[in-house]
Amino acid sequence: MKTASMLSLSDLLRMFAVFLLLSLPSLLSAEDVYCKYCGNRASSISSLTANKCPRHPSGAYKGRHAPTGSGRCVSERSKYECEYCGASASSISSLTSNKCPRHPDGAYKGRHLPYSGGESKHYQCEYCGASASSISSLTSNKCPRHPDGAYKGRHHPY
Ligand SMILES: [Zn+2]
Ligand SMILES: [Zn+2]
Ligand SMILES: [Zn+2]
Repeated sequence: MKTASMLSLSDLLRMFAVFLLLSLPSLLSAEDVYCKYCGNRASSISSLTANKCPRHPSGAYKGRHAPTGSGRCVSERSKYECEYCGASASSISSLTSNKCPRHPDGAYKGRHLPYSGGESKHYQCEYCGASASSISSLTSNKCPRHPDGAYKGRHHPY
């Protein structure tokens, strides 16, 4: 009896170990994170943010890489859209290599920033709830409830 229960316990442990080993690659790749400014890829947020970012909004290497909202979701996308203007590119690094005409600091004062929400057919402004079918049409208008003041800035996709 004792031997039998010992055996089944070690069998369970072995199965668990095999399960862990099998799922390890997917666990690791699920934790891949991308910098939203430059597209730099790292295996964890701590290793990503250990380094300074060449495309940081405050200036080259003036700050650290910053992870996108949901690394896994973002990494599986076929295209990336700028949350300020809706410009799209096939990678974060190519999107953020260009300056944004609707950047909140002023036209071309900063780079495109990849939208961290999911792809959708319907975008809503996080300040006022205005909705549009694309980021570019949403952000083409100024927002009456912008945090900097009425019509001081554009609608921003939620
Ligand atoms: Zn970066
Ligand atoms: Zn943009
Ligand atoms: Zn708005």
